[in-house]
Amino acid sequence: MGQKRVLVKFSGEALAGEAGHGIDTQILNYISQEIKSLVDAGIQVGLVIGGGNIIRGVTAAKDGIIRRTAGDYMGMLATVINAVAMQEACEHAGLKVRVQTAIKMEQIAEPYIQRRAVRHLEKGRVVIFAAGTGNPFFTTDTAATLRAVEIGADVIIKATKVDGVYDRDPNKFADAVKLDVLSYDQALHDHIKVMDDTSIALAKDNKLPIIVCDMFKSGNLLEIIGGDYTNCSIVQ
Ligand code: UDP
Repeated sequence: MGQKRVLVKFSGEALAGEAGHGIDTQILNYISQEIKSLVDAGIQVGLVIGGGNIIRGVTAAKDGIIRRTAGDYMGMLATVINAVAMQEACEHAGLKVRVQTAIKMEQIAEPYIQRRAVRHLEKGRVVIFAAGTGNPFFTTDTAATLRAVEIGADVIIKATKVDGVYDRDPNKFADAVKLDVLSYDQALHDHIKVMDDTSIALAKDNKLPIIVCDMFKSGNLLEIIGGDYTNCSIVQ
């Protein structure tokens, strides 16, 4: 038994590709094809994309010239840039898609309205949730978890550069072991850190399973949603 409605979160960094910043249209194209395979299989898909390829609040505010709140708003705007780009790629792939923003900017996208988002999903449209939660001091992981809970997603999938959660940093320790299943409390441990504490706590409170998987393994998302958990980790 697979899931029917999912929220997939991609980091902004993932869009940057080799350049390390900006937006690589080939990566957008790859992601939209992966998303299309889900939609073609009858799965309802919500998306959240970070903004780290453009700007992050904490980094922008590092030397104290830009205040954290302003930096965070800049970060939220960065997620809108990525969402608009992703919308184009999804349409290019033949998908129907809407962007909804947590901060109103109606010339660019619809404002976020939960009931309207659900209606779009029911009609087979991909909904991209942009501008994070609309509040500074949060992350797009938290925004993704919040939207997943709001739209009643069966699962949130964090599509990353690694294939799952390890008991320690696999880049530093050759003997790091991948954890196939872990509890929310395990995921909150400092050395594991699947997502930030706020998002894990929100997922825990609402019994929303979190799946961590490798975004660059083609076909992975469809396999996972189909119930094959070989190439991922699940927090539940
Ligand atoms: N951000 C925010 N509130 C939110 C979501 C995001 O203030 O609800 C800001 C924050 O400054 C963050 C930036 O937007 O650094 C980009 O998001 P994030 O760092 O989560 O992106 P990712 O790491 O996934 O690329």
